[in-house]
This record gives sequence, structure tokens and C-alpha cells, in this order.
Amino acid sequence: MMQSLAHYTARAAAMTLRNQCWIGGRFVPAASGARFDCVNPATAQVLTDVARGGAEDIDRAVAVARAAFDDGRWSRKTPGERKEVLLRLAALLRENLEEFALLDTLDMGKPIAETVNVDVPGSAHFFQWHAEAVDKIYDEVAPTGGRDVAMIRRVPLGVVGAVVPWNYPLDMATWKLAPALAVGNSVVLKPAEQSPLSALRLAELAAEAGLPDGVLNVVPGFGEDAGQALGRHPDVDCLVFTGSTDVGKMFQRYAGESNMKQVWLETGGKSPNLIFPDADLDQAADMAAFGIFFNQGEVCSANSRMLVHRDVAEEMTARMKTRAEAILPGNPLDPDTKMGAMVDHRHAARVAEFLASGKEQARLVAGGERLTIGGSDAFIQPTVFADVPHDARIAREEIFGPVLSIQTFADEGEAVRMANDSPYGLAASVWTRDLSRAMDLSDRLHVGTVSVNTVDALSAMTPFGGMKQSGIGRDLSIHSFDKYTALKTVWIRY
Ligand code: NAP
Ligand code: MG
Repeated sequence: MMQSLAHYTARAAAMTLRNQCWIGGRFVPAASGARFDCVNPATAQVLTDVARGGAEDIDRAVAVARAAFDDGRWSRKTPGERKEVLLRLAALLRENLEEFALLDTLDMGKPIAETVNVDVPGSAHFFQWHAEAVDKIYDEVAPTGGRDVAMIRRVPLGVVGAVVPWNYPLDMATWKLAPALAVGNSVVLKPAEQSPLSALRLAELAAEAGLPDGVLNVVPGFGEDAGQALGRHPDVDCLVFTGSTDVGKMFQRYAGESNMKQVWLETGGKSPNLIFPDADLDQAADMAAFGIFFNQGEVCSANSRMLVHRDVAEEMTARMKTRAEAILPGNPLDPDTKMGAMVDHRHAARVAEFLASGKEQARLVAGGERLTIGGSDAFIQPTVFADVPHDARIAREEIFGPVLSIQTFADEGEAVRMANDSPYGLAASVWTRDLSRAMDLSDRLHVGTVSVNTVDALSAMTPFGGMKQSGIGRDLSIHSFDKYTALKTVWIRY
């Protein structure tokens, strides 16, 4: 499946990059003519310049999305017809797997082995899963009796605005698009400024799959202008967002100050990983390393806090040191690379600040340095801190990098208190062979997903999302359709 570094390097150099807005089924420049640089963080070199969409472009995109919705070219197709188009899109993604893998690897610095084996197959699978599900959901009839039939119908909302982050550019877009389109909405998508390339190519591919013009529009640009314009637009019915908690709160404000559009948020996390002495410690260490170092730690549900029982704390710390030191950041186009670059120079600098703060407040066990590789200083060593005080910044704030904080607990009660003492509530893991303890903790941990004897358990079949300030609403699974539909009562008396 994997090709050589030489192959990926040559193909990357020869690629045509889509770099305009996609509105009404074609590529168009931003109304202002403005553009911004799209940089490969692993080389610090400019890949291309991209149309910098603003309020005027969002207006245009929302208008064509509304027109497409109203004339029914997609919204009034049968679920079975929409399914066929989205299944073709899934197939086209698989046919163009390497191109999409390269787009995300070049754009945000993650290893090609991950985009080839995880991100792009994942996106195809999510489109397929939602497509296959959508013609298997039934409406309801209320038990009125008499000469009445009250239908409870599930209808699309209209125009959905989607604003997504850069950590999984293709997949985060897909998590929104697949259910939103499957049930018949039109969508205006704003990708992150760091990673617009795969979304633009995806829109073109969706057209090739048969998605009618105007149903999916992509406006690349900056959050403060394009993102805010979408959030405040009076003709957008629903805004779905994945990104930071601070920006999520802005979208709630934008909605309140404009048209009260529905807002669904997938935001930050500081997920705890609870290790009990009866666990398989080797497996726990392997999975903990995966959970915090995969994708450079740029994962919302990364288990960035390890809470370990004091009886096995030193053993676990030693294991985490070995695992961290085994991962060497390197060229993302090399198929053997396990950790690539941080998404950009600015984010690497932010993570480096956390490294400095960790060195002051805790004991450095592994890593701890920012690296320059291949002309870019956007690389961070896999890092482990132990003896981390509960109020240390690295124990409380989302770093969004490959930095693990290890803390200890004395008993279950303390473990739960520490785990829940966070503004976030996205995910948690528990490692134990005691089934009663696992069930008990799964009740007491205030998070959207509890993984027992694994980390970051996730599939198209299960809802994903957070409690507290990790968000509102769920992506994935049959329940994701709830966000993109309204219930309509149609009452007939005969
Ligand atoms: P971010 O800064 O919140 O950006 C996310 C998106 O919002 C980007 O498209 C961004 O545009 C846009 N945006 C930024 N400022 C805006 C504003 N003032 N008004 C409207 N839109 C605005 O997040 P990020 O740094 O890209 O991603 C990392 C964050 O995402 C982390 O907190 C992580 O936990 C979270 N995340 C959560 C999940 C989840 O499912 N819970 C999944 C992945 C990531 P620009 O690109 O121009 O900034
Ligand atoms: Mg980029």
C-alpha cells in the first residue's frame, strides 16, 4: 500500500492544487481578489496562494446554497438517490486516495502513512456509512386515533454553515458534510486557513460524483472574516463547528446576535487516562503513547493527562519515557515517519511555551525540545512530564501537541475527582481488569466517551462529542442526523 519517499516527493511536486473558492459548482476568485499563502509546515515553503474569501463570498455562497435548497435539486431527491451520489463520492475518494493523502500531509504536516491508512480511508468510510444509513430511517405516526393521522417527519434544515479545524482537514469536513448532505441540506464550508486544499478538491470530486451545483460550496479564508460572516449570516439555518472552545463560544454569540441559527459545537479537551494497578501496563503504555503522540498530539480527544495509581506510577513513567523516545519526528512524506511537523510555526511556538512552563512546574522525563528539521522549526519532540501538580498549566490547559502530563492518585475517589476537575469533558480512558470498577467509573466520568482498556475508541457507528466546554451535540452515528434535521408535524384529519 505504501510507496517510497521518492515517489511521494515526486508526486507532491507535480500536483495541481485547487486554490480558489468553490461556489455554485465552479472555482472562482474571492470577490476582493485577496489571497493568502498556504504553507507546508514541514518545509516552511509556500505551496500555493489561496483565495481569501470574505463576507461578500460568504453571501454569494449562501445565496446559491439557498437557491439550490429551495428548488429541490438535492433536498427533494429521495434518500435513495442521495445515497447513490454519496456512495459514488466515497468510491472516488478511494480512487484518488493518494492525492488526498498528499494534500493533507503537505498542508498540515502529518505523516503520509497516517493520511494514506487512516484519514482518507476514514473519510470514504464515513461518506459511505452515512449514505447507507440515510434510506433506513423511518418517520413516525403519532397514536392519535380517531379520524386523524399525525405524521412526525424528519426534514432537512436548509443551509448549513460548517467551520472546521486543521488537525484532520478532510475528516473534520467529512464528519459534517456526510450527514448534512445525506439528509438533503445545502452546505457552505469554511476550512481552516492552515489547511484549505483537501476541502476544495473534495468539492470538485463531489460534483463529479453527481452532487448538483450549489449544494456544496467551499469558501477558504480566515476565521475573523469568512468564519464570522458565516456565523452571523441571517440566511444560514444551522452552524456546525469543530475547533477551540473560545471560538465555539463566539459562534454562540454570533447566532444570538443574528438569526438564532442552531449552533452545534465540537470543541477542546484535556482527556484523562486512568491507570489502575491491575491493568495490563504494557498495553496501557502502548495505547497511551498512541493516544498522545498520534497526529503530533493535535487531537481534541488526545489523552493528555495520565492519572496513574501511585503504586505503579514509577513503572508507568519509565514505560512512557521509552515509548516517547522511540518516536523521532521527521519528514512527513517519508512512509516510515511516525510524527510530522506541527501545523505551523505559530502553533509550534505555542507548544514550546508549554514545554518551558512544564520544565518549571514539573519533572521532565522525555523530550522537551522544539526541533528544526528540513529547514522548518515546526517540529516538537514527543514529551513526557511527571510529578505534575494538579494546578500546573500543562495539567489544565489544552496544549494540542505531543505533551503528556503524568499525575498520581491514591484511590478511585481521588482519581475521579481529578479526572472531572476540568472545564472539558470530551473523552476519558480507564485501564483495569475489574469490570465493576470499569462500569462504576464509566458512570462517574463526566465525558462524552469513556474507553475501557483502550484509548480514543471511535467509529462511524458511535456518537462523538463532549460534555461541559467540550461542546454541544454529537458527530457520527445515526444520531448525527439529529443536528441536520428538524421534526415537522403534519396533521391530517379525514
Ligand atoms: P480554532 O482556532 O477554533 O479554529 C477552528 C475554525 O474556526 C477555523 O476554521 C478557524 O479559522 C475558525 N475561526 C477562528 N477564529 C474565528 C472567529 N473569530 N470567528 C469565526 N471563525 C473563526 O481551532 P484550531 O486551532 O483550528 O483547532 C484546534 C482546536 O480544535 C482545538 O481546541 C481542538 O480541541 C479542537 N478540535 C475539536 C474536535 C472535537 O471534535 N471536539 C476535533 C478536532 C479539533 P482560521 O483557520 O482562519 O483560524
Ligand atoms: Mg498549510
